[in-house]
Amino acid sequence: MKTAALIGPVTAWRRRAHSPVVFVPTMGALHEGHAALIRRAKRLATNKSSGGKRGGVVVSIFVNPKQFGPKEDLSKYPRPFAEDLALCKREGVDLLFHPAPAEMYSTDASVAITESSLALGLCGASRPGHFDGVCTVVSMLFNIVRPDIAVFGEKDWQQLAVIRRMVRDLRIPVKIVGHPTEREEDGLALSSRNRLLSPEARRVAPRIYQALLATAMEAEEAQAEAGTATTSVSKVLKRLKQDLTVIPGAEIDYVEIVDEVTLTPLKKLSPGVNARALVAVRFDSVRLIDNLSLTSRR
Ligand code: AMP
Repeated sequence: MKTAALIGPVTAWRRRAHSPVVFVPTMGALHEGHAALIRRAKRLATNKSSGGKRGGVVVSIFVNPKQFGPKEDLSKYPRPFAEDLALCKREGVDLLFHPAPAEMYSTDASVAITESSLALGLCGASRPGHFDGVCTVVSMLFNIVRPDIAVFGEKDWQQLAVIRRMVRDLRIPVKIVGHPTEREEDGLALSSRNRLLSPEARRVAPRIYQALLATAMEAEEAQAEAGTATTSVSKVLKRLKQDLTVIPGAEIDYVEIVDEVTLTPLKKLSPGVNARALVAVRFDSVRLIDNLSLTSRR
């Protein structure tokens, strides 16, 4: 595995790489969720049409200061670099790019990318500027790595939707692949922030996913009863809020049921509209997010 802290060696590597180059951007503190994305990237990099030649898998580790608000956990964000390096080696990553902020941002940088629709609600409402930071750094990383394909986790559903929109609207020549959320055995979505939870919060945090599962079941039953008619979202949403409110120590940041592409809040569940429940819950200063599709699988 090649490692690079500077842009120059990445550009040189890219010039020699076979297609497809598949990219997994991360902020480090890597866990099995990231490992699953890397394994997906490896499968995507195996280009059967090029006579057995394999493309390359690139991982970046960059704790992007521009996507943290002034009161957020930038300094507390875990940075276990030696362990991250070992995970990338073990998973067969070809190139690990781990720049310092000074390599990424000019001191007088004055250009940023704003997505002005999908980024406004949900996490964007409680984290102003967050998605500007995400869009700006992801587009910069795309310019540096020039991947054919990039893999993002569905755990950060709004981020995935915003990036798909950015790539569409700026005509960035990269294919975006979403990968399903990887979970602990008890259902808690894997996250670098889980290690910051108190033992008590860690014990009850799986109830977030349980609440989402119950909501998906309720939505499915309601839709089955309604047939081709529509089902009101308000009852389903009320039950989800209630289930989250009773988790000891949990404070709800948001709970919404939205169209999973446009992220607009839905009033009705109807056949043909892909609905998704998205939640953010705080345990003290640790903010956890999760989401689940409410689209009937029948
Ligand atoms: P992060 O390091 O938290 O910025 O995440 C880097 C990438 O890993 C993003 O595309 C995330 O959506 C994805 N990711 C994080 N946690 C999970 C998970 N539990 N399952 C799947 N993907 C994840």
